[in-house]
Amino acid sequence: MTKQNVLVSETKSGLAITVAVSNTSLFSSAVQKPLTTQGGYITISRSKLLKTLETSGVVTGTGRINAWVDSMRASSPTHVRPTPSLKNKEEGSWILKHPSALNMFEDITNASKGKQIVMFLDYDGTLSPIVDDPDRAFMSESMRRAVRNAARYFPTAIVSGRCRDKVYSFVRLAELYYAGSHGMDIKGPTKSSKNNKRKQPVMFQPASEFLPMIDEVYKALLEKTKSVPGAKVENNRFCVSVHFRCVDEKSWTTLAEQVRTVLKEYPKLRLTQGRKVLEIRPTIKWDKGKALEFLLESLGFANQNNVLPLYIGDDRTDEDAFKVLRDRGQGFGILVSKSPKDTNASYSLQEPAEVMDFLHRLVEWKRLSLRGHSRV
Ligand SMILES: [Mg+2]
Repeated sequence: MTKQNVLVSETKSGLAITVAVSNTSLFSSAVQKPLTTQGGYITISRSKLLKTLETSGVVTGTGRINAWVDSMRASSPTHVRPTPSLKNKEEGSWILKHPSALNMFEDITNASKGKQIVMFLDYDGTLSPIVDDPDRAFMSESMRRAVRNAARYFPTAIVSGRCRDKVYSFVRLAELYYAGSHGMDIKGPTKSSKNNKRKQPVMFQPASEFLPMIDEVYKALLEKTKSVPGAKVENNRFCVSVHFRCVDEKSWTTLAEQVRTVLKEYPKLRLTQGRKVLEIRPTIKWDKGKALEFLLESLGFANQNNVLPLYIGDDRTDEDAFKVLRDRGQGFGILVSKSPKDTNASYSLQEPAEVMDFLHRLVEWKRLSLRGHSRV
């Protein structure tokens, strides 16, 4: 615990978690409420933060396997598309419900008046294209520039299913927050003072006791799935991903069954499904939505009206964050998708290129509004 800036301590009112915040420079905006810190630490009620970290049951029936595979087909580019007329009608009504964030740009900026925008970005399929080899899901230099510019004006976090180190190795921007393993491994920006880079300790790891079990199941899955050509098992530290991207669709059910067989031995782990991926995670109720809440609270915006969180993501696992924003009635979820999907997001963007356009426009708008402000 000494290396983490999360201190769990008994208080009269119960347990409290104290989180170090070193990046106060992010909050230079005039509209921003000062952090209520003591010596750079924020105290968050543990009961509030951890109340949902209880375990839940695991569903591993055959019906569920088929549902996962069907769902993966539906969200996969190899899925047979509906007939053009049906497709157009469906897309037309979907886009009315979830209009393009580029077309609704003014509504978004109007909603941010007097508020600090906080940016949350998924990585795969949002900042980088979905590619066959997950180790080669690189982001472009122009996208990196767009994210770097956004982070100059808005606190920015990358929220990914990948392990934190891996996603950092792709993004390589020290000034961002990183929530890896679906938010189970959160770290703040690396502070840079002159030539010395100071490492920001880990902010929160709600599932650290699961690490040995995750390692064990990773090895078991590697062994079990090696008979399926193209199957790739990735150890994301707090979760394990089984990638279907390079597996023949005919073998998807076999692979899903293999995963289920291994998981039977681990009732404290559960399966979730994403785009061409099955993910194994601890059965704590911690997800990208909880990570978003944790980060907002850490940044001093708990129960505040002076913040506008924007969360951009393309995956089923991003829906937890979209739902949090919808339930809070605060900020906007933006789904990256070319086709209609059931979503809690308010707006949509078609692909990473549009995400980059959106970030550019947001930065440009902020620059102009600051310039206008300084002239008054
Ligand atoms: Mg994604």
